[in-house]
Amino acid sequence: MNKPGKKKKNGNGFGRGNPQNIKKLLLKKQVIDIFYKEGMKTISELCEVTNNSIPSITNIMNELSAEGLVKNFGIGKSKGGRKPAIYGLSPDASMIVSIEISRKFSRIAIFNLHNEQIGKILEIPFGLENTENILSILKKESDTLLNTNKIRKSSLLGYGITIPGLIDIKKGISYSYPQFGDRPISETFEELFGLNSFIEHDTKAMAMGEAWFGYARDKSNVLFINIGSGIGLGIFINGELYHGNSGFSGEFGHIQMNPEGELCYCGKIGCLETIASGTALVKKSQMKIKNGKSSIISKIVEGDIEKINLKTIIDAANNGDLFAIELIEEAGEYLAKGISILIHLFNPEAIIIGGEIAEAGNLITDPIRQKLNKYTMLRLKQDTRIVQSELKEKAGLMGTIPMVVNKTIAQNYENLNLLARPFPES
Ligand SMILES: [Zn+2]
Repeated sequence: MNKPGKKKKNGNGFGRGNPQNIKKLLLKKQVIDIFYKEGMKTISELCEVTNNSIPSITNIMNELSAEGLVKNFGIGKSKGGRKPAIYGLSPDASMIVSIEISRKFSRIAIFNLHNEQIGKILEIPFGLENTENILSILKKESDTLLNTNKIRKSSLLGYGITIPGLIDIKKGISYSYPQFGDRPISETFEELFGLNSFIEHDTKAMAMGEAWFGYARDKSNVLFINIGSGIGLGIFINGELYHGNSGFSGEFGHIQMNPEGELCYCGKIGCLETIASGTALVKKSQMKIKNGKSSIISKIVEGDIEKINLKTIIDAANNGDLFAIELIEEAGEYLAKGISILIHLFNPEAIIIGGEIAEAGNLITDPIRQKLNKYTMLRLKQDTRIVQSELKEKAGLMGTIPMVVNKTIAQNYENLNLLARPFPES
């Protein structure tokens, strides 16, 4: 694979305008795409799928092998006669660093071209709202993770970064975090890391992860609800991630649930986030415990209620703590009210409940399912499955891999974008 870097003005040596060369270029991109999405193939399988001759596919395999991107994985199954050689993307030809930046913490992971995680996920207690040095912290920590796993920077394809809040996909800027300034966020990270960096909204990246590697694989009309400190929505319509006009689609957490409710940080009153988000649950538990409510949450945080976070509440609930179970149940009931609106609008085949809350499993999905009976037209409800995220904490991190792979290969191959799932122009 070509080393990542600035887009080459003159392409990659095939030259422009020559139909023969463009055809070859497209075929190369198509083969990479097939390997990435479907895994290993024999030359005759590739001939069949791409409708090309054995000599032209063999020639492409030789070139991609010379570039180090494709590898012969040995002998495949024979359909009669000699057993054929089987080819695929060389997993370690390039690595992707994936960074999920949240409000109060961040997580970093490394993946290879087979989407396999290298080493552990590194979680750091710094996010967009509790430090001024998030950029230098991320640089230091991701370099440490690379060193720990003995991965050289020269073998990286690029960085995929997810951030919360409002991101304008046309301008590539954040409206929620002024510390990024008014230049494209990806440029800031490219300068930081010295490599291709791509930005996606956190919930949309999670939805993308589920669509490529999780429950929404092979499904077309699916909604993904991310419940962490906030509440976001990823929308897949006809197999495509919907961004909205400017990239602001899916602000599900800011629909009004209670006109008499609390002031939300967005400036409105009684948003779903003020009732059913992780932040709301933490606030509610702190207040009730302070007023004498008994719960093992107090024991988990050793009496310091400031230490309570969503994970504490979920851990307590998973350990049978009635107070924690009821908190989550109550959130589920309000979520159901919001979700019923989504079902009536989108008629999705499934709604995936993900984000930090996914660890609560049935404790969150059961009350949602139950209350949907109350709010949703029967025929529509019957059509929609409420399921838990398959990838759980990995959804967002994994969701950036296809984005980095696609966009970097697209850049290296003159922006010829052939992948079926579309990507935002961030
Ligand atoms: Zn709000």
